[in-house]
Amino acid sequence: MSALGDDIRALIGQEGPISLERYMTLALTHPTHGYYMKRDPFGAEGDFTTAPEISQMFGELIGLWAAEVWAAMGSPNPLRLIEFGPGRGTLMSDALRAARVAPEFRATLDVRLIETSPTLAAIQHDTLLTAGASVSWAGQLDEVPDGPAIMIANEFLDALPVRQYVRGSRGWCERLVGLDGAGELTFGLAAEPERSIKASAQEGDVLEVSAIGHRLMFALGARLARQGGVALFIDYGHTATGFGDTLQALRAHRAVSPLVEPGEADITAHVDFAAMARSARAAGAAVYGPIDQGDFLKILGIDQRAQALTSRAGASQAADVEAARVRLSGKGVGEMGALFKVMAIAHRQLPIPPGFHRLPGAAA
Ligand code: SAH
Repeated sequence: MSALGDDIRALIGQEGPISLERYMTLALTHPTHGYYMKRDPFGAEGDFTTAPEISQMFGELIGLWAAEVWAAMGSPNPLRLIEFGPGRGTLMSDALRAARVAPEFRATLDVRLIETSPTLAAIQHDTLLTAGASVSWAGQLDEVPDGPAIMIANEFLDALPVRQYVRGSRGWCERLVGLDGAGELTFGLAAEPERSIKASAQEGDVLEVSAIGHRLMFALGARLARQGGVALFIDYGHTATGFGDTLQALRAHRAVSPLVEPGEADITAHVDFAAMARSARAAGAAVYGPIDQGDFLKILGIDQRAQALTSRAGASQAADVEAARVRLSGKGVGEMGALFKVMAIAHRQLPIPPGFHRLPGAAA
């Protein structure tokens, strides 16, 4: 058991079972032992890999997307370019480099990175040292000064803690983390059902709720509706609210139990895009998508970008570019194009953001 596992068992011993939300919060962001707090989890050597780490094309296309959105917003100056959970800072670095083709846009940028991990913030700092833009860090959105904004979040919402409720004969009971007879962490259910949940379902069905995600989407939607701008969320998840346990833990690219060695594995849940969209709309913002990442990247020009990179590369580099293009935009098994979705939240008066028009030639 990890050091954090010992802490959590002691906590439950004193206070009784804790919610899954609290467990996930501790496992991911406990100040000393949380998963993200002390390590760089990305890449072949790490626990998982993400789109910006697969290819520079991902961040570049998003940088050009942002420049177009800025022009549609009426070219505000300054523009807050906000990224949630920037990981190694790779996406932002690629985006800023690509945005050199739009110097007027670049000159307006006030880059704000929202990051909870000091270890990752230090890596982001190093990555962006030579980016030639003003970059600063915040713990959360309300620390970022007001003003028109473009926000980007890749694989951020899936890291936000969720609660789970299980349908039993008496109603929806919250899933809790407690201790078994041997003193090990185990899942259990609250004795009393949660009366406020009205969803009807079969016995045994699981309902996941991200209250933290809802609060963020409401605050962000209200901010964009008041101050102008667009937010882009890219993540894996489902487009309609449904029932199911999507909690998963990954360590060294393998699935492990979320209760074994908390703090040592990445724990995520699928994003309920429909639910997130409802919160943003309730705050007065418009919502576009979610659409497949593959479609989004194709409309943004990933095929042309890959071709341009390939034409200047040697044979083995060209093969790498092609493999990355397919992995990011293909829709087959093991490819990200259909698994990952893209959703935009925007000020209602703005035109449809680039990428969210129907694919040219696609069936209606
Ligand atoms: N966007 C990056 C990293 C995704 S991993 C990429 O695509 O490679 C999730 C990121 O969100 C990490 O940087 C993690 O430290 C950060 N994070 C997780 N929970 C957070 C929270 N509550 N507030 C701010 N950042 C958080």
